[in-house]
This record gives sequence, C-alpha cells and structure tokens, in this order.
Amino acid sequence: MPYKIIASQCTGCSACEAECPNQAIREKGGIFVINPEKCTECIGYFDDPQCVLACPVDNTCVIDTSRPRYVA
Ligand code: SF4
Ligand code: SF4
Repeated sequence: MPYKIIASQCTGCSACEAECPNQAIREKGGIFVINPEKCTECIGYFDDPQCVLACPVDNTCVIDTSRPRYVA
C-alpha cells in the first residue's frame, strides 16, 4: 500500500518532499501530496518510510489501506 498525506493535517512545511527516494511527493495548493503510482513504501531504499520520519506532524503520512501493497 502506498502512503498518503492527510491533507487536513499537512502544514505544507515541505520536509517530506526531499526525503522521498521516488520523487513521489509534490506540492499542490499549499500542501503536499503523494503520488500513489510512484510510492514504493520506500521498499528497496530504506527500512522505514522516509516521509513518516521527516514529517513533524504525527500520523500525517500514513498507509493508504484502500490500495494494494506495493510489489517490487
Ligand atoms: S513511503 Fe517512501 S516512497 Fe512512499 S511517499 Fe513516503 S518517502 Fe516516498
Ligand atoms: S512533512 Fe508532513 S507537514 Fe510537512 S509537507 Fe510533508 S506531510 Fe506536510
């Protein structure tokens, strides 16, 4: 499952954007969004999702359970 950003909690700080190894995060209207087609859950790059680690707001970058798991 890719990660998603809870829009109502995103402050637009941009901390997550540069940490994504897949360039899956971009700014949209003052907040940031994850492209689910590009997010690999950081699999192949890191043990932990970098957007989660970078985000200063708890529970803002979260798994999108509506989508299937990423398969490498
Ligand atoms: S989990 Fe990793 S690949 Fe997915 S958006 Fe976050 S930093 Fe990018
Ligand atoms: S790090 Fe968190 S608060 Fe900052 S832009 Fe990314 S999702 Fe939004």
